[in-house]
Amino acid sequence: MTKHSFSMDFEKTMKIFLLLLALLLSACSMNIGVSATQTPVIQMDNSSSTLVQNDGATPTLGPFQFYLPTPGAAPVSGWRPPLYPIPWAVSPYDHFYFARPIAADQVNWPLADYRYGGIFTPPFIHTGVDIDAPYGAPILAAGPGTIIWANWGLLTEAPGNHDDPYGQAVVIRMDFGFEDQQLYTVYAHMSKIIAIVGQHVKTGDVIGLVGSTGHTTGPHVHFEVRLGYNSFYDTYNPELWMAPPQGWGVLVGNIGDDSGMTLQQLEVYVTNTVTNDSHMVKTYGPGPVNHDPYYDENLVLSDLPAGLYKVNFNYEGREVQDWMRIYPGQVTYFTYRGTPGFNLAPPPAPTKYVLPITPPPLPNP
Ligand SMILES: [Zn+2]
Repeated sequence: MTKHSFSMDFEKTMKIFLLLLALLLSACSMNIGVSATQTPVIQMDNSSSTLVQNDGATPTLGPFQFYLPTPGAAPVSGWRPPLYPIPWAVSPYDHFYFARPIAADQVNWPLADYRYGGIFTPPFIHTGVDIDAPYGAPILAAGPGTIIWANWGLLTEAPGNHDDPYGQAVVIRMDFGFEDQQLYTVYAHMSKIIAIVGQHVKTGDVIGLVGSTGHTTGPHVHFEVRLGYNSFYDTYNPELWMAPPQGWGVLVGNIGDDSGMTLQQLEVYVTNTVTNDSHMVKTYGPGPVNHDPYYDENLVLSDLPAGLYKVNFNYEGREVQDWMRIYPGQVTYFTYRGTPGFNLAPPPAPTKYVLPITPPPLPNP
């Protein structure tokens, strides 16, 4: 995909795109009280809902009204062990390089229903994770780097644009990259920016406060990891980049059919066989999501206490399942293809890491 060569129609296309994206970013904050079912409940709440309205930039689409509830209480467990120190990587292919942008005394894990690759307003896709936090909570640098954006207007690349869906946002160009590509982290919807362009920050430095600027209806931080370019099109799943809580691990899957086509927006249930804690996570939808160069995943579920889990979903009208063990601080990987079913073998050694500059060493004779 040619991601960075915009045509002359870009502005026109962008206007329509932004209008629709506004819907997406609105939706990305609404969850929380919604249980793990297919359809988020949209309900009126006069005390706290926000009206997001077309600014008239695209008259052909007409004005629309979109009511969303404000996030409620945090779901399920309200506790996590401290995170592993960063950078954390048990296998040579892992890259848990980042701390979390919210301190451990608050909810600092992704909202279950607003994960990377989710679709809230078709056909647009969520390019980050949303972390629920109270209005005014400090937003922390997830790693060391240099501030390269601290303003409204990140998506529209128009500094000061209060209509920008990201609201007040900060971008950090990290002091490190991955596989010879530059890493960036993005923090959006701030109520206040506490950083200036050019400033160098360390992990945990406060760069802003949680808010609900931009197209959102409740306070949260929208967090993105970008690799290669500081672009909406170059995001990767932050759940593969943020260090897990100690003793907890991450489930990563690639689910497809017999022909190898990945199954999109498939509801997958992951249940701890001891505690019966159950999670529903959907495989990625179509759109500008990127897949980890090693795992090539279409499903990630982080923050799972170590233990044995049942993984099940419906494939072509029948329920299929397998059991997988989550290990402390590690990735458990599986693939699924229709007829051969589940496979718990790790991916083959990387042969397709992006843009390798240094040629791989020759194998020993
Ligand atoms: Zn979001």
